[in-house]
Parts: sequence; C-alpha cells; structure tokens
Amino acid sequence: MSFKLPELNYDYNALEPYIDARTMEIHHTKHHGGYTNNLNNAIEGTPLEGKSIEEILASVSKHSAAVRNNGGGYYNHNLFWEIMGPNGSGVPAGELAAAIKSTFGSFEDFKSEFSKAAATRFGSGWAWLLKKSDGGLVVTSTPNQDNPLMDLSEVKGFPILGLDVWEHAYYLKYQNRRPEYIDAFWNVINWEEVSRRYSK
Ligand code: MN
Repeated sequence: MSFKLPELNYDYNALEPYIDARTMEIHHTKHHGGYTNNLNNAIEGTPLEGKSIEEILASVSKHSAAVRNNGGGYYNHNLFWEIMGPNGSGVPAGELAAAIKSTFGSFEDFKSEFSKAAATRFGSGWAWLLKKSDGGLVVTSTPNQDNPLMDLSEVKGFPILGLDVWEHAYYLKYQNRRPEYIDAFWNVINWEEVSRRYSK
C-alpha cells in the first residue's frame, strides 16, 4: 500500500484569475506528484509502510529528512487543494466565524495576521491557521514542508487553513510579488471545508 496523489475537486483553471491554470497543473502533477513518489520511495520496506500520514508526521523527528520533507509535502498539498475552490464565499460562517472573532478581534484582524505570517516567512514555507488541543485558534508559519502536526514543530496543532508560499506556488503569475499572491488567496478559500476541519 502506498500514498496516492489525490485528484482535485475542480479544474486547473477553476481558480483563475487568482491562481492560473498552468501553475495549478505543474504544482499538482509535478510538485505534489513528486512529494508523493518520493515519500513512497522513502518508506518502502520500512516500518512506516502502511501507517497513516498523520502517524508518520507525529513521529517525524525519528525518521529521515526524506520522510520529513516529502511526508510534509504530501500532507500539506492534500490540505491546500481541499481548502481552496472556485466558489469561495469570501468569509467564514458559523462557529468558526465566532471563534475567529473572539480570538483575533475581527475577521479583518485575522486576515491581516495570517497575511503577515505568509509574507514574512523567509524563503519557502507555509502559513497556517491551527486549532490547538485546547480548541483555541493560532496563526503561525513553518519552514520548508514542515507542518504543525510534526512532533518537531515549534507550534503544534491541527491545521485548518494553510497557504503555500513556496515560489513554485506563485512565480509564473506573480514572479517575486508574494504579497499580491497572498491577497489573491482570500478569493479562493473554501470556507466550508475550513469550517469542517475546525469542527472535526
Ligand atoms: Mn507547493
């Protein structure tokens, strides 16, 4: 048994004009596909074969750099495709909206904190909205393909929203203008999926 590259629930051009079809196709087939294959190669014939990705990440400090980088890359992109979609309603609703308001003050304050985490992550990495084990919400960022499910992560929790700020996620359309890509991201968030993860 090995990990499979998931299909997207929408077409590569579905997030235009915010994220272009060519970037989506390369990102999904080449980058995510690469992490998936490399993860399978890294765990083949080891005790990690047959474990869930969450189990692998929870003890990742004990494993190779290949497992850390590709296991993170596999999980992070699975999440990324799911929390985006063509019919982003623009803002969260229900329990998640209330939790964001009570934690950050307002949706706009949350948006600005998350955008800042994404913009100031030096080099490659991810910005996250996490649900901690006590139920609280936190914004953070991680380097490379690390994520808050990893035992070695400084800030731990369950990621409910994530933004890929590797250049491969935006360079074709935005070149070095990461802040424009971050602004565009708010138009393609599938808040129903983010809420589902929050309530899990
Ligand atoms: Mn990526």
